[in-house]
Parts: sequence; C-alpha cells; structure tokens
Amino acid sequence: MEQVLKARPEVVREYFRLFVNRRAFTIQSKKPHPESGRHYYFRPKAKATGKPVCLSDRVLKQHLEGESTIGLYAINPATQRCKWVAIDADYKDSMEDLLKLQYYLQEDEVQAALEMSKRGGHLWIFFERPLLARECRIYIYDLALKLQVPVKGAGLVEGIEVFPKHDELQQGEFGNAIRGPLGVHRGAKRRFWFYGADYTLEHQMAYLKRLRKVSEEELRRYVAGKSLPTELMGRRRDGDHALPTSRPTSLEFRILEHINSKLRKVGRNYVTRCPSCADSGHDRSGDNLAIRIDDPRFYKCWAGCTKEMIREALGCPIRFRQSA
Ligand SMILES: [Zn+2]
Repeated sequence: MEQVLKARPEVVREYFRLFVNRRAFTIQSKKPHPESGRHYYFRPKAKATGKPVCLSDRVLKQHLEGESTIGLYAINPATQRCKWVAIDADYKDSMEDLLKLQYYLQEDEVQAALEMSKRGGHLWIFFERPLLARECRIYIYDLALKLQVPVKGAGLVEGIEVFPKHDELQQGEFGNAIRGPLGVHRGAKRRFWFYGADYTLEHQMAYLKRLRKVSEEELRRYVAGKSLPTELMGRRRDGDHALPTSRPTSLEFRILEHINSKLRKVGRNYVTRCPSCADSGHDRSGDNLAIRIDDPRFYKCWAGCTKEMIREALGCPIRFRQSA
C-alpha cells in the first residue's frame, strides 16, 4: 500500500510551473476496464455542467498525494510550445537506451531526469522557457538516430516514444498525454520516482528544479540545418495508400492520417495494428484494427477497443461539446 503523502502548496506550485503546458488534462480511471484490465485515461468532465474540468492546483495536489492520477499534455496549442520533452521507453532493455540517451544528452550539457515506470522508464528534459514542439522533436529524433536507439512507429513495433508526438496541433486537438510524474500509477498501484533524489516530494521537486534547463538559443544551435528524419515523420512512408491532397476543410477526423503502422488490404478493409492495443503491448501481429477502404470513417478493433480508446491512443480524443 502506498503511503499517504502531503503535497505542500510550494510543491504544487513548482510542479505546475515545471510540467503544465495547458489546462486540459486526462485522468486515469480508478477501476480497470472489465475486459482489458487496463486503467485508461480520459478527459474529466464536471458532473453538473458536462464541461471539461480545468487543471487546477487542487487537481495537482490530489495527483501528488496519490488520490488520483493525471496525464499531462505536451503542447500548448496557442504557442505550439512545450515546457518539456519526455521520452517513454517500455520495451525489453529499454533502460539501456534511456541511459545511453541521458549520457549523450549530457555531452550537450542537457541534464535529463530519469523517472522509473512500470516497465522501463521516462526520460525528462526541461527548458528555460517553452520551446517549439517541432524543434524539440528534431533534436531528440536526430540523437536517437545517431545512437541507433529504436523509435516506435518508424516501421518498428518497439522503440522510444517522444512526447510531444506532434510538431503542431490543429485547432481543437490535444495531442498525446503522458502520466504526470510522481503520481501513483493505478495499474501498478505504486508511485514511480526519479532516480536523482530521495523519495520524497520535496527532494524530488528540488532535484528537478536544480537541473540545468535548455535555452531556446541552445536548442536552435543543436537543430540548425536539421529536419525531422523522413522515416520518423510518423506519416506515410510508402505508397500503401494515398493521403487526401487537400487539407481537411472541416474538423472531421480522418483515421488514415493518424495511423503510423503498415496497412494491408484484406478484402474491403485495410488491416493494421490497433493503436490502443499497441499502447498496452498487444496486437503484435498488427491485424486487430480494420478500416473500411471505401469509407474510413468506419473502423473496428477486433479485440474490442472502443472508438474512444482508439481515438485517445491516436492523440485525437473524441471532442466534447464545449463552448471554448
Ligand atoms: Zn484494440
């Protein structure tokens, strides 16, 4: 049983300052899904009004004290900037890759904090002030490529995942959320700490605060002349199927624009790995998700993932009706 911790207001404030890019957030369900046994994240709504709940000090306090567990979005949609980059690795021997990245980041004087996770870990890099998601991604992908650290989605089933997962968010998008550090993982029923400090909220936050933060000028220097490696772009790398050439005119969700795994034609459907199954390490044969070729608005996971779960895994959760 996880001990009860108290999060003092200074700790909550510091946490907000370091980690919160926007007021939208996700929360991990307290009960596991009856079929998959997983604790999914969803965007909470106020019971009375049905409006999305805003990330407040109270929410952060509950997260830090282990009462609930939240997911944090990587990009502020108003600026397309991020306060941090998180590298998530949960495959076999992934810790070695994270330590390798941490070591070589240090050569650039980038101090990255390593957080334990259920399997593997998360490596966090913080910035002096929020930096463009696109440039953050170029930097990390370039380093991963140099070090031959596998990147998930680049034709590989296993590899690191980089948050932010998008260069930019379109209007109404949220991108992907990652479990807020120092919270209790509902599935694992325990808290995961950073390696660099004693296991108390105060020591952990003081450690993160002390880390050298990367400036915009430095990052620009590291990414000068570089672009996102095409094989890691996360979009079509082959001629499997064509993308619509024009930008979507409405906010209609087009699943084919978000699928990174290889598509195969089977009868009237495309068949590919279900992103929601993939998140939990399932569907290794890559054939759970069927998408109708003639009308890709219709898709189905044969393992039973709901539309909500699939959209969430793609970083495009089904939007709530909301005024703002
Ligand atoms: Zn699925």
